[in-house]
Amino acid sequence: MIELNRDARVFVAGHRGLVGSAILRKLDAEGFSQVLTATREQLDLRDQAAVNYWFRANRPEFVFLVAGTVGGILANSTRPAEFIYDNMMIHATVVHAAHLFPVRRLLYLGSSCIYPRECPQPMKEEDLLSGPLEQTNESYAIAKIAGIKLCQAYRRQYGCDFISAMPTNLYGPNDNFSLKSSHVLPALIRRFHDAKAEGRDEVVVWGTGSPRREFLHVDDLADACVFVARHYDDAEHINIGTGEDLTIRELAEMVRDIVHPDAGLTFDTSKPDGTPRKLLDVGRLHDLGWRHKIGLREGIESSYRWFLENRDRARGTEPGAAA
Ligand code: GDP
Repeated sequence: MIELNRDARVFVAGHRGLVGSAILRKLDAEGFSQVLTATREQLDLRDQAAVNYWFRANRPEFVFLVAGTVGGILANSTRPAEFIYDNMMIHATVVHAAHLFPVRRLLYLGSSCIYPRECPQPMKEEDLLSGPLEQTNESYAIAKIAGIKLCQAYRRQYGCDFISAMPTNLYGPNDNFSLKSSHVLPALIRRFHDAKAEGRDEVVVWGTGSPRREFLHVDDLADACVFVARHYDDAEHINIGTGEDLTIRELAEMVRDIVHPDAGLTFDTSKPDGTPRKLLDVGRLHDLGWRHKIGLREGIESSYRWFLENRDRARGTEPGAAA
């Protein structure tokens, strides 16, 4: 058990994103008094000299490395250079600075897309690098795998206490609701909402509807991150998810029932399906004693409420973003 106490100096790298903002809420709820953050304007995490300077000045004891360039299937397949460059640089600079200005512990967060496209389901931690990756997000996956290997290499060579966790598909407050670059769940919330607002009863869903995905509310993820930072100690990464999945069609029907019950679904099969199935084996996490608390329907309902209440500042809803 690692002592991650309320008076620790904790750096949340990427605090404005879906994950980082949830970790801030969690630390705030637990009464942490020295949470450190830096905006993109204050600190370019791709710049090693700037990151070193920031670490020297601020001396964090714990780091949640949850910053990165992220996006859904379309953004990943059309902007692969940004996804590989930004993420590889951000992971490398923060990990290296956390070694140069020693932190007590760093938690690096990856993604379930690190596993091979044809991975046996549910996907176990040891399945990493056992086969070819899904093409639509290969750049992002390679950067995320490099992040795990970075943490392991610094642990092996320098004895750094760096650990990695791989979450499943996430959703919740501060999500990106752009129709172009978001992930499926916020995209569907947005699409059903817009159809209802505009009096349309037909909503387009990308792909065939048959791929299966697992979804975790980001508040559950934040809870898991703090739990893992306190209780997990191994070079190998640990999966974070619910262990339950559903088809994209079932997901779309659930969102429809919550947002616009009268709507019908049309499947646009010119759009890619991506990986056929992505379900994590969460046995290791369950054995440690952590389980998710927020059910999918309840989570979608609260995300939709958040979307309605924050319509004007939700990412991806600014004029032009919906094109
Ligand atoms: P992935 O899990 O990396 O494939 O990323 P996404 O969350 O972007 O997509 C998951 C699945 O949902 C894919 O099969 C998409 O084709 C499908 N999907 C259906 N409608 C949408 C949509 O409006 N946006 C996105 N991003 N995906 C959609």
